[in-house]
Amino acid sequence: MVRDDIDTIGVVGAGTMGAGIAQVAATAGYDVVMRDVEESFVESGFDSIEDSLDRFAGKDALEDDPATIRERIAGTTDYDDLADCDAVVEAVIENLDVKKDVFQELERVCDDDVLLATNTSTLSITSIAAPLDRPERVVGLHFMNPVPIMEGVEVVVGEKTTDDVVALAHDLAEELGKTTWESDDKPGFVTNRILMPWINEGIRAYDEGVASKEDIDRGMTLGTNVPMGPLTLADHIGLDVCLHASETLHEELGDRYKPAYLLKRKVEAGDLGKKSGEGFYEHD
Ligand code: NAD
Repeated sequence: MVRDDIDTIGVVGAGTMGAGIAQVAATAGYDVVMRDVEESFVESGFDSIEDSLDRFAGKDALEDDPATIRERIAGTTDYDDLADCDAVVEAVIENLDVKKDVFQELERVCDDDVLLATNTSTLSITSIAAPLDRPERVVGLHFMNPVPIMEGVEVVVGEKTTDDVVALAHDLAEELGKTTWESDDKPGFVTNRILMPWINEGIRAYDEGVASKEDIDRGMTLGTNVPMGPLTLADHIGLDVCLHASETLHEELGDRYKPAYLLKRKVEAGDLGKKSGEGFYEHD
């Protein structure tokens, strides 16, 4: 059984997703311990949390003031500081070996009844948990980017994940103000399995001259009622992230998931979307 009395949440990784998860947990009133490999990465996680909290406060969207919320989060580079956490969410880089190492460290420092969640977008929960003595407490909690804004969280059920762990994962995400759905541990889960071919098809349509990039995005937003078209969304996600996810799905599911050539070329050229200032569009 996993403990369901949760006061303190550990977050491993203080990047885009980890900082966002730490922020929503602290905003919901939890104490948080956020770990990254270097002090400077922890600090930049705090910078993005503080900026985001200030924006929410400016819109009168916080119950507590930003400083109170910020004080609930402790930063660290030491795994041992996660020892008192009641649940931990991992959000480190999308690399299976790195994630396996992280979970082995978590198994070493955390009590046996602590839920261990991964925010992976495409990797197998079952593989991440395989080296552990207690793989049954590992579950996917796939937050969406940007975490403080996006309402949905995908709960991913590994081969060994037990029902009480799945139920707690749903409850915890809901305590963080999110709404959940559930996916089996199949490549890409529900979201990326469907999203990545959609983005790649948008890129191919552009590359093959079906329409201008603006018209492809306009056609999909106005024609199918999604908030962003595939090329705009790819720029927001990061073209390198899209390529990496597509390659993982291609390996697992075959040719219908092949990344578009233009996606590869853009990444090779360093045009990664919003984060590099240029992708399919130019960004400030
Ligand atoms: P990121 O590169 O912004 O952050 C990753 C962080 O993990 C970095 O700060 C890095 O220093 C840190 N890290 C690496 N090894 C570590 C370790 N052993 N211990 C602690 N920290 C470590 O990446 P991100 O975009 O935040 O993605 C994190 C995870 O979330 C990935 O699995 C990704 O697939 C998933 N995800 C990303 C998005 C997205 O849109 N960015 C959306 C959903 C899920």
